[in-house]
Amino acid sequence: MTGRQRLAILGATGSIGLSTLDVVARHPERFEVVALTGHRRLDILAAQCRRHRPRYAVVGDSADAKRLGEALAGVGTEVLAGVAALEGVAALPEVDTVMAAIVGAAGLSPTLAAVRAGKKVLLANKEALVMAGAVFMAEVSRRGTPLLPIDSEHNAVFQSLPRAFDGNLAACGVRKVLLTASGGPFRATPIEALAEVTPEQACAHPNWVMGRKISVDSATMMNKGLEVIEARWLFNAMPEQIEVVIHPQSIIHSLVQYVDGSVLAQLGNPDMRTPIAHALAYPDRIDAGVAPLDLFEIGRLNFERPDLRRFPCLSLAFQALRAGGNAPAVLNAANEVAVEAFLEGRLAYPDIAQVIAASLDAVPAAATDTLEAVLAADRAGREAALGMLLVRHAS
Ligand code: NAD
Ligand code: MG
Repeated sequence: MTGRQRLAILGATGSIGLSTLDVVARHPERFEVVALTGHRRLDILAAQCRRHRPRYAVVGDSADAKRLGEALAGVGTEVLAGVAALEGVAALPEVDTVMAAIVGAAGLSPTLAAVRAGKKVLLANKEALVMAGAVFMAEVSRRGTPLLPIDSEHNAVFQSLPRAFDGNLAACGVRKVLLTASGGPFRATPIEALAEVTPEQACAHPNWVMGRKISVDSATMMNKGLEVIEARWLFNAMPEQIEVVIHPQSIIHSLVQYVDGSVLAQLGNPDMRTPIAHALAYPDRIDAGVAPLDLFEIGRLNFERPDLRRFPCLSLAFQALRAGGNAPAVLNAANEVAVEAFLEGRLAYPDIAQVIAASLDAVPAAATDTLEAVLAADRAGREAALGMLLVRHAS
């Protein structure tokens, strides 16, 4: 790429967005920020715009756009609002690379717009791939879109695969992809005590600081379940080729096991700036501001098999992956509804898995080979989960 890499950062005000701008700010000679988007926390977005002077900023609605526009008088940033504007900045001719870091299903349409425009896509928004894997990957191969995983596990797998990997694991001599998981804050909590855990406890992740939704997903291990489905699409892996390993220290970010007995892994301190810098600069390497790994300090690395009684959400995700069709989109939608209810104190922690299981049972199987079918599955999953919440509330 000649000149500076021109970036649109979708979800700039979130945890991944902040880490991305931290890396970008270390390399002004390499990167130029063309567009930033944020849904709430306009104060943060305003500060980011003053600092990085993007051509465009996108917010949720026109009232917020008016407020941000006033706050940015004289900065030279045009403020836009709504989903069409998100899709628009993701596909701008003056953008080379799109960081897709909106959380949840809301990220699907702008991420897909970036894919369709053939941008280099840095994918943090795993939910987009879980919902719409077939449609998404078909567009990626049709456009030849460069797709780089930001999720630390998938970034580690990407780094541990041969550079020439073309979607055929067996041809590269790969037996299995091993995704590591920390086990979250409740890895050792007595199962009976899980009924009482609070959103604050669920969001207090031992190793990573993240947004609230993904923090709860990490506690239930639905995050790993979503990542199993993400790996299925990114690496064209069969369910039998994906294994989850609990590794409480979060130093090995994932591994690839080859048929000759070799296992390659990527290690590092748990800091998202590493995969972000890797993907931003790929195939170069740049400073990410991350402290060098000190193995003497760490001392030991442990591994455990996940206990599926403790983590029923992981089983539900494998079940949805094997069922295929609309099941992953329903799983994802029901999870978003259940996690939001838990975060708002309307649902007990163990009931998150129950609401998802009941939603999967309630929605009839269907194909999702068009975007319309994906969106219909998403709606059906949300309606089913909301229905379960009402039943629980009434009883
Ligand atoms: P976050 O909650 O901190 O930030 C989410 C961002 O999305 C914010 O900028 C928010 O304004 C924006 N957003 C929320 N709802 C929106 C909507 N309806 N329309 C438009 N924008 C909206 O989340 P995060 O932790 O940064 O995670 C972002 C994505 O990256 C998620 O898909 C998550 O699974 C993935 N991810 C995060 C981490 C991490 O360490 N935080 C690691 C791996 C993957
Ligand atoms: Mg991850």
